[in-house]
Amino acid sequence: MGTLAGNVCNASPAADGALGLVAQDSIIHIAGSKGTRDVPITEFFTGPGAIVLEKDEIVTGFTVPIMDKDTGYHFISIGRMALDISTISIAVTVTKKDGKVAKATVALGSVAPTPLRLPEVEAFLKGKSLSDDVIWEAAEMVSNGIKPITDVRASAEYRKEAAKGMAMEAIKLAWTKEAQQ
Ligand SMILES: Cc1cc2nc3c(=O)[nH]c(=O)nc-3n(C[C@H](O)[C@H](O)[C@H](O)COP(=O)(O)OP(=O)(O)OC[C@H]3O[C@@H](n4cnc5c(N)ncnc54)[C@H](O)[C@@H]3O)c2cc1C
Repeated sequence: MGTLAGNVCNASPAADGALGLVAQDSIIHIAGSKGTRDVPITEFFTGPGAIVLEKDEIVTGFTVPIMDKDTGYHFISIGRMALDISTISIAVTVTKKDGKVAKATVALGSVAPTPLRLPEVEAFLKGKSLSDDVIWEAAEMVSNGIKPITDVRASAEYRKEAAKGMAMEAIKLAWTKEAQQ
């Protein structure tokens, strides 16, 4: 068990809770001796174990935009066992309008020093109807757009290959299902 604040302040690139918040453009509420401030989660992480908090600040809460009925979300984490820290993870949101993507977010964990958004893939998906071919192309972009390292949990090559398959599945499921609220 843990808290979302602990999960983001721990600042692990593999943090599961953080990745969902990153994919959903969440805002982090912060309080300290000089007052309060709000920081988009995409600007919160500065490196592995490093965040924008000053020494006298704490996280007091989050604002997570409510997904409407036209938005699908899917999260996948791969680890050695179900409860292990993610070897690689992906969170995707897809908002549909008139049969096309109005907005997509694609976030990956354990592939960079911080949880990573891939704006070039999001821009590629926007405005398209997601056929298998388009999803395949987007998944290739995900794999080509990351520069993971080799560590105790997996090789860089494994992570790049796994990212492709995970992106295909996550984008497809976010596209085909409505938000589960
Ligand atoms: C065995 C094990 C398995 C794990 N598995 C996973 C996993 O599967 N997925 C995953 O995402 N993570 C995993 N983790 C790491 C995970 O990030 C943390 O264990 C957990 O999320 C932290 O939550 P917590 O509330 O216990 O925070 P704590 O451990 O209490 O705190 C973590 C850090 O954040 C700081 N902090 C906590 N709350 C605040 C706050 N409100 N404001 C400012 N700073 C704060 C603390 O000072 C500390 O530096 C695992 C850890 C362990 C030890």
